[in-house]
Amino acid sequence: MTRVVYVNGQYLPYGQAGVHVEDRGFQFADSIYEVCEVDQGRLVDETRHLERLERSLGELRIPMPMSRRALGHVLRETVKRNRVRTGLVYLQISRGAAPRDFPFPAGDLMPTIVCLARRVDGAKREARAAAGIAVKTMPDIRWGRCDIKTVMLLPAVLAKEAASADGAQEAWLVDSDGFITEGASSNAWIVDASGTLITRPTGNAILPGVTRRSLFDLLMGEKIPFTERPFRVEEALSAREAFITSASGTVMPVVAIDGRPIGNGHPGELTQRLRSNFHQAVEFSR
Ligand code: PMP
Repeated sequence: MTRVVYVNGQYLPYGQAGVHVEDRGFQFADSIYEVCEVDQGRLVDETRHLERLERSLGELRIPMPMSRRALGHVLRETVKRNRVRTGLVYLQISRGAAPRDFPFPAGDLMPTIVCLARRVDGAKREARAAAGIAVKTMPDIRWGRCDIKTVMLLPAVLAKEAASADGAQEAWLVDSDGFITEGASSNAWIVDASGTLITRPTGNAILPGVTRRSLFDLLMGEKIPFTERPFRVEEALSAREAFITSASGTVMPVVAIDGRPIGNGHPGELTQRLRSNFHQAVEFSR
């Protein structure tokens, strides 16, 4: 089946879709994005993703190119046209195209909007979750506004590449005080000996994950204790369980950090339970 891509108001065949060579997303990473999970053809947590998207745009003073409702329609229509049942939908909005100059261009620039949907092999993802993933710690060399979901992802690319070269599937980024900020493309969690979940509080140092937020709802519903505080690599190494959250992997067990096993070296019981129950806490839309 030919893939269809939404670009600035049109649904185009994958091979014919493109944006301007002087798009500010391309030249300056002056651009933000969202990734939503697609489960059984349904969009997961559309409201929270669009809220975060609007906030990211606001922080960069890029105008909302259309209403949230209309953006939601683009997301769902792109999923439908690509007949994605299990997968992801990606929405990127840049400030637009203009002759290269650092300050915001004068006048009303038309933001560039791109939306792509992709199928994911659900069986492969389940196999990965059953085995658990390995993570590698890396210095966090990103900028001071990691709360904005920009496409300025080179530090994440380099960290993931280093992790991959070491046989790990994610990098955990460590700040200058030795605390883990988050994963290169996920939020980081540990479970202590008493069964309490620990994850870093939101702020400029991490992306406020939608999956992280929905998991809070599940934890409150199931009365599972959790606390938001920074934790160090040594604490993570002695944790009972560890996992990451992201729209693309939901709750994904971590079984090794820097080659050292976490807990018994297998996905933790609580982590597995949270993974199975995660979709009870989300919003579905189609
Ligand atoms: N942190 C970073 C740096 C990310 O890139 C992502 C995934 N986009 C997350 C956290 C997880 O966010 P979400 O649960 O909204 O996918």
